[in-house]
Amino acid sequence: MKDIIDLHTHTIASGHAYSTLSEMIRSAAEKGLSVYGCADHAPKMPGSTHKFYFINFKVIPRLQHGVRVLMGAELNILDPEGTVDLPESTLEKLDYTVASLHVPCFAPRTREEHTQAYVNVMKNPHVTIIGHPDDDRYPVDYRTFARAAKESGKLVEVNNTSLAPGGSRTGAAENYAVLLKYCKEYEVPIIIGSDAHHENDVGNHRCAWELLEREHFPEELIMNTSVEKLKPYIPVLAQLFPEECHD
Ligand SMILES: [Zn+2]
Ligand SMILES: [Zn+2]
Repeated sequence: MKDIIDLHTHTIASGHAYSTLSEMIRSAAEKGLSVYGCADHAPKMPGSTHKFYFINFKVIPRLQHGVRVLMGAELNILDPEGTVDLPESTLEKLDYTVASLHVPCFAPRTREEHTQAYVNVMKNPHVTIIGHPDDDRYPVDYRTFARAAKESGKLVEVNNTSLAPGGSRTGAAENYAVLLKYCKEYEVPIIIGSDAHHENDVGNHRCAWELLEREHFPEELIMNTSVEKLKPYIPVLAQLFPEECHD
Protein backbone atom coordinates (compact mmCIF):
# COMPACT_ATOMS: atom_id res chain seq x y z
CA MET A 1 0.00 0.00 0.00
CA LYS A 2 1.30 3.46 -0.86
CA ASP A 3 2.44 5.34 2.24
CA ILE A 4 3.85 8.81 1.63
CA ILE A 5 3.13 10.78 4.81
CA ASP A 6 4.69 10.83 8.28
CA LEU A 7 3.55 13.60 10.63
CA HIS A 8 4.83 12.29 13.94
CA THR A 9 8.59 12.74 14.25
CA HIS A 10 11.00 14.36 16.69
CA THR A 11 14.32 16.18 16.25
CA ILE A 12 17.09 17.02 18.73
CA ALA A 13 14.90 19.94 19.86
CA SER A 14 12.75 17.42 21.77
CA GLY A 15 15.62 16.67 24.14
CA HIS A 16 15.51 12.87 23.85
CA ALA A 17 15.73 12.53 20.05
CA TYR A 18 18.95 12.42 18.10
CA SER A 19 18.74 13.78 14.55
CA THR A 20 18.52 17.31 13.22
CA LEU A 21 15.59 18.61 11.18
CA SER A 22 17.77 18.52 8.04
CA GLU A 23 18.73 14.90 8.67
CA MET A 24 15.10 13.95 9.23
CA ILE A 25 13.96 15.64 6.00
CA ARG A 26 16.74 14.03 3.99
CA SER A 27 15.72 10.65 5.37
CA ALA A 28 12.09 11.37 4.40
CA ALA A 29 13.26 12.13 0.85
CA GLU A 30 15.32 8.94 0.67
CA LYS A 31 12.27 6.96 1.75
CA GLY A 32 10.11 8.56 -0.92
CA LEU A 33 7.76 10.47 1.39
CA SER A 34 5.71 13.33 -0.08
CA VAL A 35 4.97 15.00 3.26
CA TYR A 36 7.25 15.11 6.30
CA GLY A 37 5.90 16.59 9.52
CA CYS A 38 7.99 17.66 12.48
CA ALA A 39 6.16 17.46 15.83
CA ASP A 40 8.69 18.21 18.52
CA HIS A 41 7.53 17.95 22.12
CA ALA A 42 5.92 21.11 23.48
CA PRO A 43 7.65 22.80 26.45
CA LYS A 44 6.17 20.86 29.40
CA MET A 45 7.99 17.69 28.37
CA PRO A 46 11.16 17.64 30.49
CA GLY A 47 14.21 18.45 28.36
CA SER A 48 12.21 19.78 25.43
CA THR A 49 12.49 23.23 23.94
CA HIS A 50 11.19 26.71 24.80
CA LYS A 51 7.97 27.93 23.22
CA PHE A 52 9.99 30.38 21.10
CA TYR A 53 11.13 27.38 19.04
CA PHE A 54 7.57 27.05 17.76
CA ILE A 55 7.08 30.63 16.59
CA ASN A 56 9.90 30.94 14.05
CA PHE A 57 9.07 28.16 11.60
CA LYS A 58 8.68 30.78 8.86
CA VAL A 59 12.47 30.59 8.28
CA ILE A 60 12.27 26.93 7.23
CA PRO A 61 12.07 26.15 3.50
CA ARG A 62 8.87 24.18 2.99
CA LEU A 63 9.95 22.18 -0.01
CA GLN A 64 13.22 20.33 0.51
CA HIS A 65 14.57 17.51 -1.68
CA GLY A 66 11.07 17.27 -3.17
CA VAL A 67 9.44 16.72 0.23
CA ARG A 68 6.70 19.01 1.56
CA VAL A 69 7.72 20.03 5.09
CA LEU A 70 5.10 20.73 7.75
CA MET A 71 6.04 22.18 11.13
CA GLY A 72 3.88 21.38 14.12
CA ALA A 73 4.18 20.28 17.72
CA GLU A 74 3.30 17.33 19.92
CA LEU A 75 1.27 18.99 22.63
CA ASN A 76 0.99 17.64 26.15
CA ILE A 77 -2.54 17.26 27.44
CA LEU A 78 -2.23 18.57 31.00
CA ASP A 79 -5.58 17.87 32.67
CA PRO A 80 -9.06 16.37 32.11
CA GLU A 81 -10.20 19.78 30.85
CA GLY A 82 -7.94 19.25 27.84
CA THR A 83 -5.55 22.12 28.55
CA VAL A 84 -2.40 21.99 26.39
CA ASP A 85 1.05 23.50 26.88
CA LEU A 86 1.32 26.11 24.16
CA PRO A 87 -0.74 29.31 24.17
CA GLU A 88 -3.36 30.06 21.53
CA SER A 89 -1.11 32.74 20.00
CA THR A 90 1.54 30.08 19.29
CA LEU A 91 -0.87 27.34 18.25
CA GLU A 92 -2.29 29.49 15.50
CA LYS A 93 1.17 29.76 13.90
CA LEU A 94 1.63 25.97 13.60
CA ASP A 95 0.75 23.91 10.54
CA TYR A 96 -0.81 21.15 12.65
CA THR A 97 -0.55 19.54 16.07
CA VAL A 98 -0.58 16.14 17.70
CA ALA A 99 -2.08 16.08 21.23
CA SER A 100 -0.97 13.27 23.53
CA LEU A 101 -0.91 12.05 27.12
CA HIS A 102 2.59 11.63 28.57
CA VAL A 103 3.33 10.44 32.09
CA PRO A 104 5.63 13.37 33.08
CA CYS A 105 2.84 15.83 32.20
CA PHE A 106 -0.32 13.93 33.15
CA ALA A 107 -0.06 11.29 35.85
CA PRO A 108 -2.49 8.45 35.03
CA ARG A 109 -5.90 8.88 36.65
CA THR A 110 -9.22 7.13 36.08
CA ARG A 111 -10.67 5.84 32.83
CA GLU A 112 -13.33 8.56 33.00
CA GLU A 113 -10.73 11.30 33.40
CA HIS A 114 -8.57 10.02 30.52
CA THR A 115 -11.62 9.83 28.29
CA GLN A 116 -12.68 13.30 29.36
CA ALA A 117 -9.16 14.67 28.66
CA TYR A 118 -9.25 13.30 25.10
CA VAL A 119 -12.80 14.42 24.42
CA ASN A 120 -12.03 17.91 25.70
CA VAL A 121 -8.77 18.32 23.78
CA MET A 122 -10.67 17.34 20.62
CA LYS A 123 -12.73 20.51 21.08
CA ASN A 124 -9.58 22.57 20.51
CA PRO A 125 -9.65 23.76 16.89
CA HIS A 126 -5.83 23.79 16.78
CA VAL A 127 -5.56 20.06 17.48
CA THR A 128 -5.23 17.90 14.33
CA ILE A 129 -4.25 14.42 15.53
CA ILE A 130 -4.73 12.52 18.79
CA GLY A 131 -1.36 10.87 19.44
CA HIS A 132 -0.91 7.26 20.60
CA PRO A 133 -4.26 6.70 22.42
CA ASP A 134 -3.11 3.13 22.99
CA ASP A 135 -1.41 2.94 26.36
CA ASP A 136 -2.40 0.51 29.12
CA ARG A 137 -1.49 3.17 31.66
CA TYR A 138 -4.29 5.35 30.29
CA PRO A 139 -7.43 3.21 29.93
CA VAL A 140 -10.04 4.92 27.74
CA ASP A 141 -13.68 4.41 26.84
CA TYR A 142 -12.92 3.90 23.15
CA ARG A 143 -16.51 4.12 21.95
CA THR A 144 -16.88 7.59 23.45
CA PHE A 145 -13.42 8.49 22.12
CA ALA A 146 -14.19 7.40 18.54
CA ARG A 147 -17.55 9.16 18.50
CA ALA A 148 -15.96 12.39 19.74
CA ALA A 149 -13.18 12.11 17.12
CA LYS A 150 -15.79 11.76 14.41
CA GLU A 151 -17.85 14.70 15.66
CA SER A 152 -14.83 16.98 16.04
CA GLY A 153 -13.12 15.96 12.79
CA LYS A 154 -9.86 14.86 14.42
CA LEU A 155 -7.50 12.21 13.09
CA VAL A 156 -6.72 9.26 15.35
CA GLU A 157 -3.11 8.15 15.30
CA VAL A 158 -1.93 4.57 15.01
CA ASN A 159 1.55 4.93 16.48
CA ASN A 160 4.21 2.61 15.11
CA THR A 161 6.54 3.05 18.07
CA SER A 162 3.79 1.91 20.47
CA LEU A 163 3.46 -1.31 18.46
CA ALA A 164 7.18 -1.97 17.98
CA PRO A 165 8.99 -4.28 20.42
CA GLY A 166 10.66 -2.51 23.34
CA GLY A 167 8.48 0.60 23.31
CA SER A 168 7.57 2.48 26.49
CA ARG A 169 3.83 1.96 26.02
CA THR A 170 2.29 -1.46 26.58
CA GLY A 171 -0.94 -3.09 25.42
CA ALA A 172 -1.06 -1.08 22.19
CA ALA A 173 -2.05 -3.93 19.84
CA GLU A 174 -4.94 -5.01 22.08
CA ASN A 175 -6.07 -1.44 22.70
CA TYR A 176 -5.96 -0.58 19.00
CA ALA A 177 -7.99 -3.70 18.18
CA VAL A 178 -10.84 -2.24 20.27
CA LEU A 179 -10.34 1.37 19.14
CA LEU A 180 -10.15 0.47 15.43
CA LYS A 181 -13.38 -1.48 15.66
CA TYR A 182 -15.13 1.73 16.73
CA CYS A 183 -13.22 3.81 14.17
CA LYS A 184 -14.59 1.49 11.50
CA GLU A 185 -18.09 1.69 12.92
CA TYR A 186 -18.11 5.52 13.10
CA GLU A 187 -15.91 6.01 9.99
CA VAL A 188 -13.18 7.84 11.85
CA PRO A 189 -10.07 8.53 9.75
CA ILE A 190 -6.75 7.39 11.14
CA ILE A 191 -3.16 8.33 10.41
CA ILE A 192 -0.08 6.22 11.03
CA GLY A 193 2.78 8.04 12.75
CA SER A 194 6.29 6.68 13.16
CA ASP A 195 7.04 8.71 16.30
CA ALA A 196 10.64 8.60 15.03
CA HIS A 197 13.25 9.87 17.48
CA HIS A 198 16.07 9.14 15.01
CA GLU A 199 16.34 9.66 11.25
CA ASN A 200 16.41 5.89 10.63
CA ASP A 201 12.80 5.62 11.76
CA VAL A 202 11.26 8.34 9.58
CA GLY A 203 8.40 6.71 7.67
CA ASN A 204 8.77 3.43 9.56
CA HIS A 205 5.14 2.32 9.74
CA ARG A 206 5.66 -1.39 9.39
CA CYS A 207 4.07 -2.59 12.66
CA ALA A 208 1.10 -0.26 12.17
CA TRP A 209 0.41 -1.59 8.68
CA GLU A 210 0.59 -5.18 9.95
CA LEU A 211 -1.99 -4.31 12.59
CA LEU A 212 -4.30 -2.49 10.17
CA GLU A 213 -4.21 -5.42 7.78
CA ARG A 214 -4.89 -7.85 10.61
CA GLU A 215 -7.89 -5.78 11.68
CA HIS A 216 -9.11 -5.40 8.07
CA PHE A 217 -9.15 -1.65 8.45
CA PRO A 218 -10.49 0.06 5.30
CA GLU A 219 -7.92 1.92 3.21
CA GLU A 220 -10.22 4.87 2.57
CA LEU A 221 -9.95 5.77 6.27
CA ILE A 222 -6.12 5.66 6.28
CA MET A 223 -4.75 9.14 5.57
CA ASN A 224 -1.12 8.19 4.80
CA THR A 225 -1.84 7.17 1.24
CA SER A 226 -2.65 10.53 -0.40
CA VAL A 227 -1.93 14.23 0.09
CA GLU A 228 -5.39 15.03 -1.25
CA LYS A 229 -7.01 12.96 1.49
CA LEU A 230 -5.04 14.83 4.13
CA LYS A 231 -5.84 18.34 2.88
CA PRO A 232 -9.22 18.80 4.63
CA TYR A 233 -7.54 18.10 7.98
CA ILE A 234 -4.55 20.40 7.42
CA PRO A 235 -5.87 23.42 5.51
CA VAL A 236 -2.41 25.03 5.40
CA LEU A 237 -1.27 22.26 3.02
CA ALA A 238 -3.23 23.84 0.19
CA GLN A 239 -1.85 27.31 1.03
CA LEU A 240 1.78 26.23 1.33
CA PHE A 241 1.67 24.00 -1.74
CA PRO A 242 -0.98 25.44 -4.03
CA GLU A 243 0.17 23.48 -7.08
CA GLU A 244 -1.67 20.35 -8.04
CA CYS A 245 -0.28 17.63 -5.81
CA HIS A 246 1.44 14.77 -7.52
CA ASP A 247 1.41 12.00 -4.98
ZN1 LIG B 1 4.10 11.16 22.47
ZN1 LIG C 1 6.13 11.64 19.86
